[in-house]
Amino acid sequence: MKPWIAGIHAYVPGKSTGADGRRLTKLSANENPLGCSAAALAALARDHAPAEYPDPDAIALRGALGREHGIDPARIVCGTGSDELLNLAAQGFAGPGDEVLFSRYSFAVYDIAARRCGATPVEVGDADFGADVDEMLAAVTDRTRVVFLANPNNPTGTYLPRSEIGRLHAGLPTDVLFVLDQAYAEYLEPEEADGGFALAANAANVLVTRTFSKIYGLAGERIGWATGAPELIDVLNRIRGPFNVTAGGQRAAIAAVNDHGFVTRSREANREERKRFTQVIEALGNHGLRAVPSKANFVLVLFEGALQAETALKAIAEAGYAVRHLPGQGLPQALRITIGTASQMDDIAGVLQRLCGNAA
Ligand code: PMP
Repeated sequence: MKPWIAGIHAYVPGKSTGADGRRLTKLSANENPLGCSAAALAALARDHAPAEYPDPDAIALRGALGREHGIDPARIVCGTGSDELLNLAAQGFAGPGDEVLFSRYSFAVYDIAARRCGATPVEVGDADFGADVDEMLAAVTDRTRVVFLANPNNPTGTYLPRSEIGRLHAGLPTDVLFVLDQAYAEYLEPEEADGGFALAANAANVLVTRTFSKIYGLAGERIGWATGAPELIDVLNRIRGPFNVTAGGQRAAIAAVNDHGFVTRSREANREERKRFTQVIEALGNHGLRAVPSKANFVLVLFEGALQAETALKAIAEAGYAVRHLPGQGLPQALRITIGTASQMDDIAGVLQRLCGNAA
């Protein structure tokens, strides 16, 4: 084993079983509680030819994405989830001796992506659980090759407005690749868009990644995409798997992109339930509970009083739900809770209210 591989801790996915092996309802992986678009489901079920390889260049899917977002398909590459593309970005632009920068409390894959190509991960201090642009710029050295930023961020749900994204980009040397991970961007209101696509269209060093795993509800199909300068896309094309998106996944993604109604319904339902759940947490503020303000489809709940996150995790599991505890990411007193349906959120809220009542 290469020495840099020895330093990697395997990614720990959100659980779907309790301590006793019982199946739990998953509010631990930021999936869409509404499932996916009916048209995407129909596209998946449609007869196809499993003996044949999929289109290696995902031409129809890239065309659909290009039309939807006003992007030249030559500036788009698809991946086996956006995870693949994040890893390829690190691999294509960083190696031993180089540094890869990201904020504390950001997506766990950035650290793995840096290490697996032998580069040094550099974790930068946060600002109240979100990225701190000044800290990030101050951490840049002449060895920095790649900067990762998730906007909105996982696991905190925090978000930087367009002005801050622009300031971060403007402050980076032009030979540093800025990877703007927009896995949760569709949950933003239209006026909150961070300008990533415009940056990727105009700057040679910006790669924006997106996924079908979140609002589109196609996490099981593993489809992501990235856009940037043709020269950047060319690098990812050289090193990606040749048939990295399945045929069914390509068909489903095309149907999903074109089903605007499903995306709007998902965004609205998420906005409503996130607001309601955040208010429940705020009402428990005198018990030390705090919700980090979220722009995504989950809320990070902090436990700063007598009630311990682990106690809440167990009680929530007893009620039949899996949520995410991230002690390995420096968040031992926090739970990341995916926004589910109204009744699911009522159940979680009820557990937390009961625990706080008991602790009073
Ligand atoms: N980026 C962020 C910030 C995420 O939270 C996730 C999913 N957990 C991903 C990327 C990867 O998603 P996928 O590989 O399913 O596209």
